[in-house]
Amino acid sequence: MEKKDCCCTAVRSVSTLNIQYAHRFYGFGGEARYLHGHTGVLKIEVEDSVNQGVNMVYPCNEIKKIAWSVLRNFDHALVLREDDPLLKAVLDVYETEGIRNGARTNVNKGPAFRTSLCTAYPECRVVVTKETMTVEGFIKMVYELLKDKLNIVRITFKSGDNTASAKFPSRLTLDRCPCCGVTLENGTCPKCGYRKADGICRT
Ligand SMILES: [Zn+2]
Ligand SMILES: [Zn+2]
Repeated sequence: MEKKDCCCTAVRSVSTLNIQYAHRFYGFGGEARYLHGHTGVLKIEVEDSVNQGVNMVYPCNEIKKIAWSVLRNFDHALVLREDDPLLKAVLDVYETEGIRNGARTNVNKGPAFRTSLCTAYPECRVVVTKETMTVEGFIKMVYELLKDKLNIVRITFKSGDNTASAKFPSRLTLDRCPCCGVTLENGTCPKCGYRKADGICRT
């Protein structure tokens, strides 16, 4: 029988993460002006060819790991706009309580980050944003944080009754390990040690 090449050239691997956070829409004419919380469901879609060695676009657990290493700073966090006076009020209470600069139980932290849209303060579980953290606003922040690590072509975020979805152009071609599917760093797999130069899997 004639061998046919796979016709799937742009397939997606999809990873879903849950993020619990509190926020409010400062200055908004609705009940969302009051501080409240959500469990948001974030869906990240990564596109590429199917990596022949592992028969995947990208391992979904690895997408999750890469995304969570940064986005965990939004989990169990307070997300407030930079001009919101609640920010100072909350930080003052945290200061008095002795948890402003960290606490023994505050361990689920990622490295602090600052982008043009948001700054994370993991030690007090606060993220300060430039714009109101709507579902649309969060998608912009997520894309900015992860766009150089994953070839993201769609992000969907559902929080309460609100859902937004945004499409992005495919713009990264990542060299992936044929043994475990993760992105090679300088031609070497950070997970199994595979080297593109000699093509030998070391798993
Ligand atoms: Zn809300
Ligand atoms: Zn590998």
